[in-house]
Amino acid sequence: MSRRSATAALRLDPLLRKIASVVSPGDAPPVAVRAGMIPCGGVLPVVARERALLVGDAAGMVSPVTAGGIHTALQHGERAGEAVARFVRGEVGDPATWFVRNYPRFLLKRSLRWAFDNFQSDWMFNHLLGTPQMRRMAELIYFHRKGGPLPKD
Ligand SMILES: Cc1cc2nc3c(=O)[nH]c(=O)nc-3n(C[C@H](O)[C@H](O)[C@H](O)COP(=O)(O)OP(=O)(O)OC[C@H]3O[C@@H](n4cnc5c(N)ncnc54)[C@H](O)[C@@H]3O)c2cc1C
Repeated sequence: MSRRSATAALRLDPLLRKIASVVSPGDAPPVAVRAGMIPCGGVLPVVARERALLVGDAAGMVSPVTAGGIHTALQHGERAGEAVARFVRGEVGDPATWFVRNYPRFLLKRSLRWAFDNFQSDWMFNHLLGTPQMRRMAELIYFHRKGGPLPKD
């Protein structure tokens, strides 16, 4: 991202104007700022080195479609903990050499992201959103196989 677009992305004035009738932080300076880009471009090329692992957001383990990363962070975080414990007990070699091979690759979701970035059209999506096929796709993306159908309107 260029410096210009990064600065533009951080402008809060339009948001503050929009919510001014409901909430206003006044002129007080922010006490703290906690923000960052959601790493939804896929798992990073390097996620481990000797005796060190990255998991969750730090590894870029975030869905390129929904930017959701809670499930993968918990799942792989727990397994990473178990792998490290087994390493400490001398049962396995350094997890940096084998554990990260099981990280998700998000091939389908990265393809969907690419298609969305390159072919997204509001007109088309507005029409598609009302179709049963699109509804089914949304159910699968957001709730996977376990989720029930989306509520009807
Ligand atoms: C606004 C927003 C909405 C989201 N909504 C969803 C959603 O609906 N569903 C979903 O699945 N995902 C969602 N996500 C993404 C999800 O929150 C993250 O993918 C997930 O929390 C990643 O977990 P993590 O443990 O990898 O990282 P984090 O939850 O970011 O945990 C990292 C922790 O490390 C701490 N830390 C950082 N640096 C240091 C340091 N030097 N020393 C010590 N501690 C440090 C941080 O304070 C933090 O507590 C959302 C994210 C955002 C920002």
